[in-house]
Amino acid sequence: MHAIAPPADFQACGKGKLAARAPRNGEIARKSPSIPPAAPYTASMKCVLALDQGTTSSRSILFDHDGAVRSVAQRELHQHFPRPGWVEHDPEEIWEAQQQTAREAMRHAGIHCEDIAAVGIANQRETTVVWNRRSGEPVHCAIVWQDRRTADLCARLEADGAGPLFRERTGLMLDPYFSGTKIRWILDHVDGARTAAERGELAFGTIDSWLAWKLTSGRLHITDVSNAARTLLFNIHTLAWDEELLALLGIPRSMMPEVRASSEVYGEVDRFLCQCGSPLAGMVGDQQAALFGQACFEPGAAKNTYGTGCFLVMNTGPQPMPSQNRLLTTVAWKTAEETRYALEGSVFIGGAVVQWLRDQMGLVRTAPEIEQLAGQVDDAGGVCFVPAFAGLGAPHWDPHARGIVAGLTRGTGKAHIARAALESMCFQSMEVLRAMERDAGRPIPVLRVDGGACANNLLMQIQADLLQVPVERPRQIETTAFGAAALAGLATGFWDGMESIARHHQVDRVFEPRITADEAESRFARWLRAVERSKQWEDGE
Ligand code: ADP
Repeated sequence: MHAIAPPADFQACGKGKLAARAPRNGEIARKSPSIPPAAPYTASMKCVLALDQGTTSSRSILFDHDGAVRSVAQRELHQHFPRPGWVEHDPEEIWEAQQQTAREAMRHAGIHCEDIAAVGIANQRETTVVWNRRSGEPVHCAIVWQDRRTADLCARLEADGAGPLFRERTGLMLDPYFSGTKIRWILDHVDGARTAAERGELAFGTIDSWLAWKLTSGRLHITDVSNAARTLLFNIHTLAWDEELLALLGIPRSMMPEVRASSEVYGEVDRFLCQCGSPLAGMVGDQQAALFGQACFEPGAAKNTYGTGCFLVMNTGPQPMPSQNRLLTTVAWKTAEETRYALEGSVFIGGAVVQWLRDQMGLVRTAPEIEQLAGQVDDAGGVCFVPAFAGLGAPHWDPHARGIVAGLTRGTGKAHIARAALESMCFQSMEVLRAMERDAGRPIPVLRVDGGACANNLLMQIQADLLQVPVERPRQIETTAFGAAALAGLATGFWDGMESIARHHQVDRVFEPRITADEAESRFARWLRAVERSKQWEDGE
């Protein structure tokens, strides 16, 4: 797959020794079990197709005009860990999985490509693909957002005093999380890449760009504002690529995609959907998609997603709000009517801690089994699990932190570890929620949740207990995909306005706090002590 040979010592994705196992039979339901059987299809029943390209899987979901899911198809993605702290995906596998699931979802719902009113993309953000414009082949594996390989470059830039400039223009921290330093790494480490890039032969894209390119057979090299805002190269005030930041990172302007709104007709999809010409009309980063899908349209409205990571995002209105508490300022979306900004607290390892217990530790066979295991004990028995596998994100931003399990005793069992893992998602979310409340100058009275792990009732109860606020789970937990579908459907007139989107938001269950505020605080204080011990681990020799 490499048009340009990688360095000899580099282990490409697909060949990595530590590549995670493929999904086991039946582990990922092809059709979501929570979805009732589709009603008989009628000719007037057009759908919007959402391509939900997440970190752990590629999914395709069809939404009808009532915002109901007609069908879902899903493929788990291989995760490649060629070295400690490195995480890669195979861009071709992503594309293949996206095509297969789209076809499967359509077949399952019994609908044809001419019934697709619009196609929208929600994608894992920051993950970086560089490909050759002529051959369409990636020059390297996709470097995933969790990857820490550029920690030293970020530290050098920070030491040179560039941090405040990046922060002011992009709203981001100088952290390996974002795409900019990953692009730079590819240019520096893949033979011939820099020369090819300078000749205008290479294209960069986050996964939205990569899919748009593939969906249109290379006619479109575009991204949307919400994805552009995660690259460290995009000025969130002017909504344009920043020449000075590009120059600072040594990235040729010619590699960058054209920046478009999150909701507009970009072009027609071809090839993969039988040349049907459905309009590609929505592109948005997954967390901003969930914010939109949860109808968080008013300033102050916030949601927390429990996926691979945990992402708390709050709509802050038409102006960027700088953070005093080490959160990120980012673009939420741009539609024909409005541009919205958001504050975000990004936690790198959320549901991924459960995946780790499943794949690396063999503690459970499937992710949902963790609920039953953790439910065997009333508390974590004093165990604190800080899953800083990929460093720590907000509000600590320590790429050198590493995971620790503290407080082990002779009495510690599997169930305690499982419970501590669930608690780790909640404590990390609590840290960013506290920071966000300080930035916004107001409390978040109710937390709207979504993401694969929010199906876990015990997890949601622990979260309500610790935060001391109600946690509200929507009936439709496919909020990320729905956000992308909604943005695409708005652009094509399938839905006629934000009110019709908001009407589809319904509550499934509210989890009320069941412990005292004092108890929540003392558990939180213990967590913070454990976090301190995980910091600077890689630098601590
Ligand atoms: P992404 O979009 O980041 O790929 P998803 O929203 O699909 O993630 O959620 C998948 C993540 O949630 C995985 O990391 C998985 O381990 C975790 N997960 C899924 N179901 C559960 C569950 N019932 N309890 C806890 N974690 C879960």
